[in-house]
Amino acid sequence: MHFHSFARGIDVGAHCYLLELGTSRILLDAGTHPKRVGVDTLPDIHDLPIDSADAILLSHAHLDHFGALPVLCRQFPSAPVFATEETFAVGEALLHNSVNVMTSQRRELEIGAYPLYTHREIDHIVPSWMPRRFGQRFEVGDGVSATFLPAGHVLGAAGIVLRDAGRTIFYTGDVHFEDQSLCQAADFSEIEGEKIDTMIIETTRGESDRRADYTRESEIDHLIEAIRETLARGGSVMLPVFAFGKTQELLMMLYEAIEDGRLPQVPVHIGGLSTKITALFDRLSSTSRRFHQGFRILDDFPRLVRPARKEPEPPYGPGRIYAISSGMMSENTVSNRFAHHFLPNPDNAILFVGYADPETPAGRILSAEPGDILSMNDRGTGRRMPLKCRIEKFDFSGHAPRDQLLDYIIRINPKHAVLVHGDEPARRWFADQLRQRCPHMRVTIPDPGTPLNL
Ligand SMILES: [Zn+2]
Ligand SMILES: [Zn+2]
Repeated sequence: MHFHSFARGIDVGAHCYLLELGTSRILLDAGTHPKRVGVDTLPDIHDLPIDSADAILLSHAHLDHFGALPVLCRQFPSAPVFATEETFAVGEALLHNSVNVMTSQRRELEIGAYPLYTHREIDHIVPSWMPRRFGQRFEVGDGVSATFLPAGHVLGAAGIVLRDAGRTIFYTGDVHFEDQSLCQAADFSEIEGEKIDTMIIETTRGESDRRADYTRESEIDHLIEAIRETLARGGSVMLPVFAFGKTQELLMMLYEAIEDGRLPQVPVHIGGLSTKITALFDRLSSTSRRFHQGFRILDDFPRLVRPARKEPEPPYGPGRIYAISSGMMSENTVSNRFAHHFLPNPDNAILFVGYADPETPAGRILSAEPGDILSMNDRGTGRRMPLKCRIEKFDFSGHAPRDQLLDYIIRINPKHAVLVHGDEPARRWFADQLRQRCPHMRVTIPDPGTPLNL
């Protein structure tokens, strides 16, 4: 029994793992790396023989888990592809968007390898995808069964249980044990009490503790208050968000605040990709595991403004909320182009509700001081603007804080813990804690490219 990681390094990106269980070969996730370019964004699978996998299972639709799927399907054309219905619906839309992004990057950044796949290739593989419900057990190889369990994190996200001749392997995927505004907390109760041989665990937040006094409710209160104050003085609010997940969570937070009278009904603008993804949430609103069952955001949210056809970006004006992507305000995105409306205007606010890498424009804004002069492109050559607007950051992470995850691992007490999906210090924190507190547990930080004997 072997585990192989095809990630491009010990970090958070290009997640793709192979499990060899007896004669069965099962691939978990097919991600791209958000910080690399060209073929380096792909998991390093080129040494695997063509068509040598029995199944491909996907934990959720974020691109670091799903973005390389067409390339895997090209290399393993006979392997059935399994995920939840939500993951497939959103993943398909995000893959098509990736083709558009890669096509424009081919021109602008002269990356000859782009696009790594085409719209046609996506359309070709979609009909053979095999959606499975949470809790449903299905065959994925010779004597191997799989079950998806709700992982919280984002709509449709699954932890994956694999069972084979008395052995149980559990891959958490990205996981959150707390309820969010739309997404319900993980429910792994099915494996509670079962002897877990190998647990493959995300470690995203291992580098730091969450504030001791943190509660999601008070964080929402602070966010709503910051928005209310900004609107009251005639300013506008920009919330840079990813189109999938954070956009819909944020809209539900705003909706609840408007319903309670804590926020006035003002126009709330969203972008084109967010509109597409939100339509999928709405289509599945009565069948998905989520809060606000049946609530259709695009129809039921008061004064939600979608982009008009052929309009490259929303009209800018005072007294409005802009929930626009990208979340890290990357170059060539609407939130980046909107910076010139916001940064120099002391009445306005940019409120960050998601993770911002320090090397992105959002990260640079967050580390700047009031009055600093900023350029929003990577070369520092673009229009330079003084930072005068209100800047604040809020913690609405969709990943479990490290103490909760550590407690969970200790409680489940697998024989072997394989630490994935975290930067090296994050994985090391978990490894050190587990070695101290569970000396009998085997703990591994897998080295990409080196097979691990389970
Ligand atoms: Zn994720
Ligand atoms: Zn991830």
